[in-house]
Amino acid sequence: MEKNRLMDEFLQAGRELIALHSRQMQAALEGDTDFGRFELLLHLAQEKKEQAKYAWIAHVHAHQCTGEELL
Ligand SMILES: [Zn+2]
Repeated sequence: MEKNRLMDEFLQAGRELIALHSRQMQAALEGDTDFGRFELLLHLAQEKKEQAKYAWIAHVHAHQCTGEELL
Protein backbone atom coordinates (compact mmCIF):
# COMPACT_ATOMS: atom_id res chain seq x y z
CA MET A 1 0.00 0.00 0.00
CA GLU A 2 1.35 3.38 -1.02
CA LYS A 3 0.32 4.94 2.27
CA ASN A 4 2.34 2.39 4.21
CA ARG A 5 5.35 2.87 1.96
CA LEU A 6 5.19 6.61 2.59
CA MET A 7 4.91 6.03 6.33
CA ASP A 8 7.91 3.71 6.20
CA GLU A 9 9.87 6.43 4.46
CA PHE A 10 8.88 8.89 7.14
CA LEU A 11 9.87 6.51 9.94
CA GLN A 12 13.14 5.65 8.24
CA ALA A 13 13.96 9.33 7.80
CA GLY A 14 13.18 9.84 11.49
CA ARG A 15 15.55 7.03 12.46
CA GLU A 16 18.30 8.52 10.31
CA LEU A 17 17.78 11.86 12.00
CA ILE A 18 18.02 10.28 15.45
CA ALA A 19 21.14 8.34 14.44
CA LEU A 20 22.79 11.53 13.22
CA HIS A 21 21.87 13.35 16.41
CA SER A 22 23.43 10.65 18.54
CA ARG A 23 26.58 10.62 16.41
CA GLN A 24 26.84 14.37 16.89
CA MET A 25 26.30 14.05 20.64
CA GLN A 26 28.89 11.30 20.79
CA ALA A 27 31.41 13.43 18.90
CA ALA A 28 30.78 16.33 21.30
CA LEU A 29 31.13 14.05 24.32
CA GLU A 30 34.44 12.76 23.00
CA GLY A 31 35.77 16.31 22.84
CA ASP A 32 35.47 16.58 19.07
CA THR A 33 35.52 20.36 18.54
CA ASP A 34 34.32 19.93 14.97
CA PHE A 35 30.97 18.35 15.84
CA GLY A 36 29.34 21.22 13.93
CA ARG A 37 30.13 19.32 10.74
CA PHE A 38 26.98 17.33 11.43
CA GLU A 39 24.79 20.40 10.98
CA LEU A 40 24.46 20.08 7.20
CA LEU A 41 23.70 16.36 7.47
CA LEU A 42 21.16 17.05 10.18
CA HIS A 43 19.58 19.75 8.06
CA LEU A 44 19.30 17.41 5.07
CA ALA A 45 17.91 14.59 7.20
CA GLN A 46 15.37 16.96 8.72
CA GLU A 47 14.23 18.08 5.26
CA LYS A 48 13.94 14.50 4.12
CA LYS A 49 11.76 13.72 7.11
CA GLU A 50 9.54 16.76 6.48
CA GLN A 51 9.17 15.83 2.81
CA ALA A 52 8.21 12.29 3.72
CA LYS A 53 5.68 13.61 6.21
CA TYR A 54 4.06 15.94 3.69
CA ALA A 55 4.04 13.23 1.02
CA TRP A 56 2.13 11.03 3.43
CA ILE A 57 -0.32 13.80 4.33
CA ALA A 58 -0.84 14.68 0.65
CA HIS A 59 -1.50 11.05 -0.19
CA VAL A 60 -4.02 10.60 2.59
CA HIS A 61 -5.84 13.79 1.64
CA ALA A 62 -5.78 12.93 -2.06
CA HIS A 63 -7.86 9.81 -1.83
CA GLN A 64 -9.17 9.81 1.68
CA CYS A 65 -7.18 6.97 3.13
CA THR A 66 -8.56 6.59 6.60
CA GLY A 67 -7.60 5.02 9.86
CA GLU A 68 -9.37 1.83 8.83
CA GLU A 69 -6.45 1.05 6.58
CA LEU A 70 -3.67 -0.79 8.32
CA LEU A 71 -0.80 1.48 9.13
ZN1 LIG B 1 -3.89 5.44 -0.06
